[in-house]
Amino acid sequence: MNKKPPSEKEREASRCRTRAWSAANPERKKAADTAYRAANAEKLRLYHKSRYQANKEKMAAASRENYLKNKDAYKERARKSLDKHRAEHYALVRARRVKKRDSVKKYLFKLQNGRCAYCRCKLDFAAMHIDHIMPVKLGGKNERSNYQLTCPSCNHTKCAKHPIAFAQSLGRLL
Ligand SMILES: [Zn+2]
Repeated sequence: MNKKPPSEKEREASRCRTRAWSAANPERKKAADTAYRAANAEKLRLYHKSRYQANKEKMAAASRENYLKNKDAYKERARKSLDKHRAEHYALVRARRVKKRDSVKKYLFKLQNGRCAYCRCKLDFAAMHIDHIMPVKLGGKNERSNYQLTCPSCNHTKCAKHPIAFAQSLGRLL
C-alpha cells in the first residue's frame, strides 16, 4: 500500500522540529549546510541565476535599497576588509598597473622601432621612460595616444615642456 502523503499540519510539525534542531545544534547545522552547498553547487548556481533573471529589476532595486539603508555598515565592512587584506589588495593593484604599463611599453617600442622619440638613440627596454607627448600640466591626457618612449636623458630635459617648444629647442620643427 502507498504511503499517505503528509498533511500540511504534519509538514509544519516537521519543519518546526528541523528549526528546533538547527537552533540547538548550530555547528552541525552549519556543517550540514556547507556540505549541501558543496554537493549541489551547480544546481544552486543555476537556481540563483534563473531566480535573478526572472526578478532582475526587483532584486536590483531591493539590493540598492538595502545598500542605502545600511550604507555606513557596508562602508565600515569594506574598510575593515581593506585593513585586513591591505597588503594583498595593493599587491594586486600594483601587479595590474605593471601589466598595463608593460603592454603600453611593448606596443610603443615596436611602433618606434626601439628608438627614443627625440634623439633616436637605441632604447634600453628596462631603463626607457614613458613620456606624455603633451604634458599633463598642459592638459595632456593619461592615455595611450599621448604616450611616447624616450631615453631617460631626453625625458629629464623635456620635463613638462610643450612638445613643439622642446623639439624647437633641439633645433627641429623651426
Ligand atoms: Zn633621447
